[in-house]
Amino acid sequence: MIAVIFGPPGSGKGTQASRLENELHVKHLSTGEILRAEVARETPVGKQVKRIMAAGDLVPDDLIVDIVRRRLPEAEEGPGVLLDGFPRTVAQAEALDEMLTGEGHVVNFVLALTVPEDQLVDRILHRAAVEGRPDDTREAIGERMREYRELTAAVLDHYRKRGVRIDEVDGTGTPDEVFDRISAQLSS
Ligand code: AMP
Repeated sequence: MIAVIFGPPGSGKGTQASRLENELHVKHLSTGEILRAEVARETPVGKQVKRIMAAGDLVPDDLIVDIVRRRLPEAEEGPGVLLDGFPRTVAQAEALDEMLTGEGHVVNFVLALTVPEDQLVDRILHRAAVEGRPDDTREAIGERMREYRELTAAVLDHYRKRGVRIDEVDGTGTPDEVFDRISAQLSS
């Protein structure tokens, strides 16, 4: 099973994906986490993306597609994969389709978290105080929202057009409340 958890920055994708990883025993593949680890280890990729990420911009499609292409086969050995933060552009979604088709797989469903934009900014600023992520500054947040509206929102249409099941879940409230909604939706 291949699933994508989808939503704007601050919608709680990472939090919910970690919980789903434990509950469903799927492998959580977060491109943001992979990139943050590359930056922390000061690898060549990390050095290339550090400034792009801190500014809230998207890293180049080729680079991220390459990372996913290398990690996906191992993740697919388990009972399922939950992609978090990927695909973020239609080009990435098309590259993923191609990778999966080659292995006889498809994206089985998309779990889309919805949260009003004013709440997203508050949440991210709160996370900035707790975690100190370098891209949680007001300026970078604005840029990430713009990238989401201009590039990432279209990914949902890509899946809609292909008839992939999309489960929209209200992402407001506490992580427990959201998780309960997701569980109810997935078992329906
Ligand atoms: P996230 O943790 O998913 O919010 O990702 C943090 C940052 O990593 C993003 O703002 C981008 O700079 C970069 N990033 C993560 N995933 C992708 C992706 N699929 N495409 C381009 N950039 C990405």
